Amino acid sequence: MADMAILLRGRSRCHLCNAVIEAEDEAQLFPPALFATDSAFGRLNDSAVHRQCLDARPDGDLALQILDEYLRDL
Ligand SMILES: [Zn+2]
Repeated sequence: MADMAILLRGRSRCHLCNAVIEAEDEAQLFPPALFATDSAFGRLNDSAVHRQCLDARPDGDLALQILDEYLRDL
C-alpha cells in the first residue's frame, strides 16, 4: 500500500481551500513527495483536499494523472 496522507474527517483541512474536510465531503489524498516542491502542485504533497476543490482547478486533472502514474508504478 502506498504511503498516503492521513485524512481525519471533521479535523483535516483541505490544502486548497483550508476548510475542514467533513464526513460527507468527497476527498482526494496525495502521498508525500509526489510532486516537486517548487511546482504548482508542491503543496499537495502529503495532503488531503476536497475533490471539488481539485476539480475546480484547471490543472486538477493533471495532478490526478500524476498520482495515477505514481500508483501504477509502485
Ligand atoms: Zn477544499
